[in-house]
Amino acid sequence: MCGIVGAATQRNVVGILLEGLQRLEYRGYDSAGVSVLEPVEHQMVRTRRVGKVAELRSACGESNHSGHIGIAHTRWATHGKPTEGNAHPHVSGETLSVVHNGIIENHEALRETLQTAGYQFVSETDTEVVAHLLQDEIAKAGSFREGVHNGLKQLEGAYAVAIMHRDYPDTLVAARAGSPLVIGLGIGENFIASDPQALRPVTDRFIYLEEGEIAEIT
Ligand code: GLU
Repeated sequence: MCGIVGAATQRNVVGILLEGLQRLEYRGYDSAGVSVLEPVEHQMVRTRRVGKVAELRSACGESNHSGHIGIAHTRWATHGKPTEGNAHPHVSGETLSVVHNGIIENHEALRETLQTAGYQFVSETDTEVVAHLLQDEIAKAGSFREGVHNGLKQLEGAYAVAIMHRDYPDTLVAARAGSPLVIGLGIGENFIASDPQALRPVTDRFIYLEEGEIAEIT
């Protein structure tokens, strides 16, 4: 069981995300990663490491990441080896980043369809299918939330996901179907996580997502 943390704030989120991951370490994991949208240009930057969150923390420190919005993940590999290339977040192009907890059972069929449509896969994970599928559906819908809604309807399996998109730089979309996810409410800032424990330093107000619900936080 892995961990998801996300934050949409007016301060730098990197420390909040890394602290959140550290608080989810008890769940077990083999690798960790973080994506943020940099301020101003909203360029998407990502750092991933095999091993401990502490290693990810020092890698983020070296590259001096910052952003007001971001998602982070500790992975427990189910599809593909525990390598940096298979660690989350997974991306589609320069714009979409996703973290995923669980298993996508129909990933092979979806991968084939998306490859035929021109998407290139670079990892061995089931999760990368989610990145390209949602990218495709968001473009078709012209709406972040609606695109995610249309894409998730095509997934079979148990999952929790959190998605960030460069064209919607103030918003995270998250959803659950079989894996837990909680929203943390702050003042002028909001969060998501697999477990409220991850968000204790930043809030004590929580909304537990119900099965099948999609949340948009800004
Ligand atoms: N199935 C995904 C993978 O192997 C997610 C695993 C997890 O829940 O950490 O990358």
